[in-house]
Amino acid sequence: MSNLAAVMTALGTIEIQERPEPRPAPGQAVIAPRAVGVCGSDVSYFLNGQVGPFVVEGDFILGHELSADVVAVAPDVTHVKVGDRVAVEPGVPCRDCSQCRAGRYHLCPDLEFLATPPYHGALVQRLAIDARTLFVMPDSMSYEEGALLEPLSVGLWGCHRAGLTPGDKVLVTGAGPVGLLTAEAARAEGALGVTVSDISATRLELAAAHGFATLSGDQLAACGQDFDVLLECSGAPGVLRQGLERLRQGGRAAAIGIGKKDVELPLHTLNWNEITLSTVNRYKDTWPLAMSLVSSGRVDLSGLHTGSFGLAETAEALLAGRDDPHSVKAIIYPQQA
Ligand SMILES: [Zn+2]
Ligand SMILES: [Zn+2]
Repeated sequence: MSNLAAVMTALGTIEIQERPEPRPAPGQAVIAPRAVGVCGSDVSYFLNGQVGPFVVEGDFILGHELSADVVAVAPDVTHVKVGDRVAVEPGVPCRDCSQCRAGRYHLCPDLEFLATPPYHGALVQRLAIDARTLFVMPDSMSYEEGALLEPLSVGLWGCHRAGLTPGDKVLVTGAGPVGLLTAEAARAEGALGVTVSDISATRLELAAAHGFATLSGDQLAACGQDFDVLLECSGAPGVLRQGLERLRQGGRAAAIGIGKKDVELPLHTLNWNEITLSTVNRYKDTWPLAMSLVSSGRVDLSGLHTGSFGLAETAEALLAGRDDPHSVKAIIYPQQA
């Protein structure tokens, strides 16, 4: 049996290559990825070779939003078994450093995160991974939903970091996949009203179909200053500042979307209004909650999955967002060569 991978061999170039058959080391399972969502970071690595300080050197395998089948386990692994359908948390911490022991494993300096150089990602037919990153999905959950738990986790952790409490009036800036899932997370966590802003009319249509109030870019600039919480997901220049200016005094915000350039903040206004701004580095401990919110129907994932691609179509999947304004989340099926 061959183990094929979609390998980025140069900027904008994917080759299908054979990889060695993985074996599970102690504590590991071998998984067969079934659905892998394309993330903005994958696209950035593919086109620019870089995301922030992480630079691609040599051959590189993308993909970190995934669900999979368990195909082998080490003898010491007991909580998953061969045949289980699992959602995968894509970061493996050392579990032994001071950050890990303080419960902040997502800030572990030795975190091995899929598709973050130097660690390869999930666009491969089989890979070995720490079994503790695997969460067995209920039968009712599709592989596509399982893959979407990763961006949903970003939204859930963003709500947590912003200190969102039931009854809050929430503004989400940016209606891409993370923005929509963050809005879903905010509603599930008890936000009294969730308003989503974006400059794309297509994206606002999807937000409206999910039951959120919407604002265009112009409307955002002109709207009232009475939101309790801002969840900034666009990473677009100026939007964090614009969103912060829409908060009432004592408001809270989380900076979830990160643009290429650093931003300047209106500290004078932020101080005067006692705005709390939290930063967000991915997530931690979110998979069980994300899974229960989706399987109970409290988070609606409809309309997010907009394109399906086999492994050999990985380059098309990575460019879908650029080439098609209606694309929200492309999903690659690694078992379809
Ligand atoms: Zn992602
Ligand atoms: Zn650690």
